Amino acid sequence: MKAVLEFLGSGTSTGVPVPGCRCRVCRSPDPRDRRLRSSVLISLGKRRLVVDTGPEFRIQCLRAGVERVDAVLVTHHHADHLYGLDDIRAYSFFKRRTIPVWAAPATLREIRRHFAYIWRSSQIGGGLPDIELRPVEGGFKAIGIDIVPIPIKHGELDILGYRLGNLAYMTDISRLPPASLPLLENLDAMVVSCVRCHSHPTHLSLIEVKRLHRLLRPRRTLLTHLAHRFSHRELLMELARFDIFPAYDGLRINLDGV
Ligand SMILES: [Zn+2]
Ligand SMILES: [Zn+2]
Ligand SMILES: [Zn+2]
Repeated sequence: MKAVLEFLGSGTSTGVPVPGCRCRVCRSPDPRDRRLRSSVLISLGKRRLVVDTGPEFRIQCLRAGVERVDAVLVTHHHADHLYGLDDIRAYSFFKRRTIPVWAAPATLREIRRHFAYIWRSSQIGGGLPDIELRPVEGGFKAIGIDIVPIPIKHGELDILGYRLGNLAYMTDISRLPPASLPLLENLDAMVVSCVRCHSHPTHLSLIEVKRLHRLLRPRRTLLTHLAHRFSHRELLMELARFDIFPAYDGLRINLDGV
């Protein structure tokens, strides 16, 4: 049974088009230049896992025809990755199940703070997501896939990427700590965030992506969290010869070794 990776969103924190912007990418007729906030869906058989639940989570699920969610992984607590979490209740309520939400302990603390109402006894019923917070403190298994947390730097923040089989999903990465290198051998696909060409305080630049790709040698690298400076078509033409590709919303990839 092969796992499938689907990009629910590939955009930076503002999404693309950026509201109010009239630049050529924001006005581009190419649907691949329309990017919702970064998130991916992993399917294995009937089971579904999502990494991050940004503000457009509900729209993304409708667009991708997601009929169930069996697990959620959270990379960190920023709004563009988390604030759609409440919409998971459609899956917990109608399917009558508790959905595990995995994240680093520090991120779980933020989830408890941002979504404090979920655990208030005064508010009950179908209006609440039925989730179970699970601290990531080492490798674990979800929807039948072995998952390894990858500590990464997001500016000053310590956050998590995840290795699922031979896929590494590392959004909002500005630096890979040397201790994480051995966790990333023999990758079929590596997904990293890249907001723009030149250096950025909290994400990899395009030059840094190329360097990381040469260092880790995954079969292919996919870029997500893309901003409106990047035209999909131009980026594709520029990078394909390096086995680096821009992701786009709706892109599906068969994964080897998951
Ligand atoms: Zn982000
Ligand atoms: Zn723009
Ligand atoms: Zn972030």
